[in-house]
Amino acid sequence: MSVKSLKQHKIEMTARRIVSLAISAGMLKRKPCLICGKGKLTKAHHEDYMKPLEVIFLCDSHHQQIHKKGVKK
Ligand SMILES: [Zn+2]
Ligand SMILES: [Zn+2]
Repeated sequence: MSVKSLKQHKIEMTARRIVSLAISAGMLKRKPCLICGKGKLTKAHHEDYMKPLEVIFLCDSHHQQIHKKGVKK
């Protein structure tokens, strides 16, 4: 693992922690999947990890899809 990807990993972990804290504090609300509209167990997805509170919510399968192919708009 390169130094750069280790650093990136830390940034991602921090961003995820900030989101879960924000959700439990009521600052951020979990939403249905942006793509299919399924409301249960969505995951917060970061398009930019440097903006930890700017997330979109996706169901498990669409979240995996986005990480494989990238976000299509
Ligand atoms: Zn979905
Ligand atoms: Zn994601």
